[in-house]
Amino acid sequence: MSDCLFCKIISGEIPSSKVYEDDICLAFNDIDPQAPVHFLVIPKTHIGSVAEVNECNSAVVAHIFEVIAKIAREKGVESYRVVSNIGEQAGQSVPHLHFHVLSGRDMTWPPG
Ligand code: 5GP
Ligand code: ZN
Repeated sequence: MSDCLFCKIISGEIPSSKVYEDDICLAFNDIDPQAPVHFLVIPKTHIGSVAEVNECNSAVVAHIFEVIAKIAREKGVESYRVVSNIGEQAGQSVPHLHFHVLSGRDMTWPPG
């Protein structure tokens, strides 16, 4: 999607601090970290949010969760939170599916 911020990060048009990349997904550090570890994992194909996950594209999401577990193991991170905001009221500001991975501090529940 030409006007999508995260599609521009995938193409390299906008630089990012890359954590991991393969043919299916990209992980990069959040520009405004909310925890000592805060990276995002996004599919390379444009999917708007979890609300657009369906039987045709859900394998990408399964892969992303494998990647999250792999990155966490490699970073030695044992306790972490995975968050995906869907829609404006839930706090989604970039309409390209992304999973926040946050770690390195105590977290409260429920989230605000
Ligand atoms: P959302 O608010 O949609 O759940 O999450 C979007 C995230 O993208 C935010 O945490 C925000 O800090 C991050 N973000 C926005 N623009 C950029 C950018 O240009 N580069 C990086 N690395 N992160 C960004
Ligand atoms: Zn996109």
